[in-house]
Formats: sequence, C-alpha cells, structure tokens
Amino acid sequence: MNWPTWLPLRKDLTPLTPYGAPQVPAQASLNTNENPYSPSPALQKAIADAVMVAAANLNRYPDRDANELRTKLAGYINSTSRVNLTIDNIWAANGSNEIIQSIFLAFGQGSALGFTPSYSMHPLIAKVCGTNWVDGKRNSDFSLNVELAIEQIVQIKPALTFITTPNNPTGGSVSISQIKSLADAVAKVNGLLIVDEAYAEFSTEDSAVTLIAKNPHVVVIRTMSKAFAFAGARVGYMLCDSSVKDAMMLVRLPYHLSALTQAAASVAIDFKDELLGYVSELIRAREAMTAQLHALGLKVVPSSANFILFTGFKAEAPKLWSELLGKGVLIRDVGLPGYLRVTVGNEAENTLFITALKELI
Ligand SMILES: *Cc1c(COP(=O)(O)O)cnc(C)c1O
Repeated sequence: MNWPTWLPLRKDLTPLTPYGAPQVPAQASLNTNENPYSPSPALQKAIADAVMVAAANLNRYPDRDANELRTKLAGYINSTSRVNLTIDNIWAANGSNEIIQSIFLAFGQGSALGFTPSYSMHPLIAKVCGTNWVDGKRNSDFSLNVELAIEQIVQIKPALTFITTPNNPTGGSVSISQIKSLADAVAKVNGLLIVDEAYAEFSTEDSAVTLIAKNPHVVVIRTMSKAFAFAGARVGYMLCDSSVKDAMMLVRLPYHLSALTQAAASVAIDFKDELLGYVSELIRAREAMTAQLHALGLKVVPSSANFILFTGFKAEAPKLWSELLGKGVLIRDVGLPGYLRVTVGNEAENTLFITALKELI
C-alpha cells in the first residue's frame, strides 16, 4: 500500500495488507470453510424470539461477562470431551479472532512462534499487536515436525506457541500425545501453548481441553463459525486455566459481546444437536470429494477438517482459481504455489466444483 505521508500510521503497520478472502458472489461459495447448511426454520424462529426478548432491554448494557453463554459453552465442551470445566475456565468473544487478539494483548511480550503454513491470522494479529512473530517449519508433507518444534520452543522461548489442529489450510491434525509433548516443552519456558481447534468437531482426535487440568500452560481456542454453522453471529471462545481467563479480562473491552449476540448464541447451543448434525454428512462428503479428486489424477493432503488442500494440476494456482470462479465456483488460493483449498459444501456445490474442475484440468 502507498500510504499518504501525512497519515500518522504506526510504522510497523505500513508493510501489512488487511485480511481479505475475496467476497464475490458465486453459485458455490467454497472459500471460507463455512458450514453450507443454514439454520432450520425452527431455529430461526427461536433466535428471533430470543432477540425479541433481548431487544426489550437494549437501553441497558449486556451481561459484561456473558455468564449464561459461557456456562452453556462449558457444558457443551464437558459433554463432548468428558472434562470438568467451569465458567472460570472459559472466555467468549466476537469470533475466535477476537480471542486471538486478546491473547496477544495480554500475553504477547517477546516472541510468538507458529508453524507455517497455518492460519494466516495468527502472524497478522501478532504484528498488529506488536509481538515479534517467528515462522517455524513443518515437514514437506505439511505434517507437524514435533521434535523440530520442541527444539524451536527451547531455543526461542516464545511467550506464545501456536498450533492449529486440524491445521488450516492443510487439513491434517496433531495427535493428543504430540500436543502433550509440546505442552511440556512450553511449560518449561513458561509460555502458553495456544491450540487453535477451529475444526475440532470434524476430527476424531481427542481435544487438547483434556490437558488443561494437568497443564495450565495449555489454552484451547474454539469457534461457532465452522462445525456449529453460526459464522454470521461471530462467537468464538477459549478453554483455559482460570488464571489465563482472569488475565483476558484485563484486556477485553467492556461489554464487548452484544446482548443480541449472547441471546442468539445461547439459543444455538440449545439447538446443538441440529447444528452439529451435519458434521457426519460433511465428513462423508469430504471423503467422497477426496476420491473424486484422486480420480481426476490430483493429489490431496489428508484432511480431518471440512476442507481439502489439493495439488497436481498443470495451471498456476491463481489461473485455475479464476477459471473456476468463471464457472461459478469460488474456492481459495491460500498462497501456496501449486495448491488450492476447497471447502466441502452441500451436494449441489460439490458437484458443481468437481464438474467445473473436470472441464478445466
Ligand atoms: C475459521 C478459523 C477461525 C475462526 O475464526 P472466527 O473468528 O471464530 O470466525 C479460527 N482459527 C482458524 C484456524 C480458522 O480456520
């Protein structure tokens, strides 16, 4: 960007570009890993009713600590991961991106370490918050090299070490025993291990929330944007030791989570069986799409999420990306030469994608 010289923008921000997945209309939007299934009419009605009740009190500030919502989210995690977390082990915000930002504001002194390619917002938010970001390396097949990661943790002594499992944009997951080794290494340097589990519901691995009770250095980030099919409401949360949660309260903006958001999200958790009901269908569709990509002679990175990173096409990735868009299919060029990422959509969207791809490669 060419910033005007009169603009007193922070020097360290001038080289950055804003997050910007292209938002363009398409017949099949398979670019931001959303759940393709919209809320049922019954859920729409329940949300509208709850918003109506909340609307009657919009002259007042919302519950500053979102106690009802946090209690429900803790209940959800306790029931799915067989842990015993309480409201003191959970914090909620406007999407997990706000959680990540608050983590940097509270703990981002010194360096943060992550292993690329991974979620592009981790380094971007680090830079915006003035934390030095270190790009760690992965194996050439994109799996996490745990030994190398531990070496880097010992050497760099980061305040924050990020792993994403299942990883975005590559799709693979890290086993709970590997996460435990990383957590032990992070504890020795007095840092925090931030485990971004945005896609956990699509994976069969145990969640890192099972490590928190024994290792308070483990912090798990979750979101309602993906499996929970609630991206538009903007709700993310974090499971952690109570002292980590207390520190988050130092940096949160007062009343950050609106009464309307809290009301809608509370209802969505009551409907969790319906919302998460499509997860198994999406996993089945992921496996079907993987087989179809193989049949086209393409290579697929094994995924335990709701998207697939693929390669093996002859065109440059940006060219194939725009040709697909020309056929009404919006997928994602994540900036890895030779690779593109596609979100698993509904049946019609997936068929459109495979049909278009067949014509183009
Ligand atoms: C999508 C995604 C998020 C979600 O962000 P929200 O702000 O909760 O919508 C977080 N982490 C990763 C790795 C993601 O892919």
